[in-house]
Amino acid sequence: MTHSATTATAPSTHESAGTPRTWSFTSSVTGEQVAITCMPGCTIDHTRDAETPSHPVDIYCWIGESDDVTLPIDTTGTPEEFRVLSSRIEVHPFARALSHRLPFAVVEVVDEHWIGGLDPDGLEMVINTLAERLDALRRTHADLVRARADYAAEQVLSALRQNKAEVTA
Ligand SMILES: [Zn+2]
Repeated sequence: MTHSATTATAPSTHESAGTPRTWSFTSSVTGEQVAITCMPGCTIDHTRDAETPSHPVDIYCWIGESDDVTLPIDTTGTPEEFRVLSSRIEVHPFARALSHRLPFAVVEVVDEHWIGGLDPDGLEMVINTLAERLDALRRTHADLVRARADYAAEQVLSALRQNKAEVTA
């Protein structure tokens, strides 16, 4: 990967955001100029791709979300902030895998752990799986609220029982 989310910027041309950019790069394989039209909405800055010879398979466009969300996740005994559930759309116009020459989704489940190459059906499957897990989390939330209330009530009852035992002793 030659780009990260932090280097992706809005199109720097005079064209409006919705207009696909057309540009060209030098193929490091043939030495020839190759014209490319960006996926509509592509937010990658292709300046470096255009300026230095590139292998065609390394050229890709993406539409990314910049609203990263992190949660404190514990993998070492000390919780650290890890990015969760970010997603983007990529297309690799010269990919060796034909399926990557059409836009596909990439989901980062948690920092650097990806589900890639998702077509709309695949992405829907991921969304449905996560929606089921969210339902399970909501059930756990309800159970937790109930467990805390029961626990607090039991503490009070147990204290009352102990007081009564001391009084009658
Ligand atoms: Zn692009």
